[in-house]
Amino acid sequence: MNRVALFSHHACIAHDPGPGHPECPDRLRAVLSALEHPDFVSLLREQAPQATAAQLQLVHPPAYVEAILSLYAEDGELRSLDPDTFVGPGSVAAALHAAGGAIAAVDSVMEGWADAAFAAVRPPGHHAERQQAMGFCLFSTAAIAAEHARQRWGLKRIAVVDFDVHHGNGTQHILQSDPAFFYASSHQYPCYPGTGAASETGESFNVLNLPLAPGDGSAAFRAAWDNQGLPALRDFAPELLIVSAGFDAHRMDPLAQINLQTEDFGWITDQLMAASGGRIVSLLEGGYDLQALAASAALHVRRLIASKLK
Ligand SMILES: [Zn+2]
Repeated sequence: MNRVALFSHHACIAHDPGPGHPECPDRLRAVLSALEHPDFVSLLREQAPQATAAQLQLVHPPAYVEAILSLYAEDGELRSLDPDTFVGPGSVAAALHAAGGAIAAVDSVMEGWADAAFAAVRPPGHHAERQQAMGFCLFSTAAIAAEHARQRWGLKRIAVVDFDVHHGNGTQHILQSDPAFFYASSHQYPCYPGTGAASETGESFNVLNLPLAPGDGSAAFRAAWDNQGLPALRDFAPELLIVSAGFDAHRMDPLAQINLQTEDFGWITDQLMAASGGRIVSLLEGGYDLQALAASAALHVRRLIASKLK
């Protein structure tokens, strides 16, 4: 059994992008409620701290960080940063705890008191570009965690694997020009945000996109990872694996048309544990059917606890 740290914070629930928005506070409530099951008594439950401005500036320009932080001062009004991305009174704090939770999760496995970590945080991060909030995301959480792992811990090979149903455009764009990073993503294509073609390989072939067609299910998903994603990840031999864990490829999810079963998220977790290099940090991204999200995230964490890590 692995020692698994769980990072979360009530501030991440207080982010409310407005009535009817799919990225709703109940998403995180559903995940945390599922993790109250007795199966999860061994979790090392930690508060996700706020990221500092300096940590956000690991990947975002100071002017962008200042622009987002300045929204803290705006009271009450819900402001839109793009057609899908809204900031209300609790949103900036939530995003700071989400990024800080990811950083603390990296530290937990690097300090060695956890074997694996899961950051149950929101808003998600993988669509945020260096200078642009988009797709429900304010800060590029996974890229910040990866850059932190390199600068604070001196790691030379850091992989980010993204199984959210949407392509992690921001993560890819921020990491793709640096061969210390490897980014692999399976996602519906075509779909939002429009990027993620197989032809996008990164400047040093350190990006692997595994596009899935609308209507694809377990067989296509598993074949893509078995045949391409996992061999490439093993070849890269990461010292740390960061997972952008979105659960919106589930067949019940309303935002896309990939038909995974809950068990597929257990399968991919097992595979990633075995290819992780011995350290794995998972960050909650999407997942918009509350029941499917809760069941899939719970299975993911179950496998983080039980699967062989190497
Ligand atoms: Zn998504």
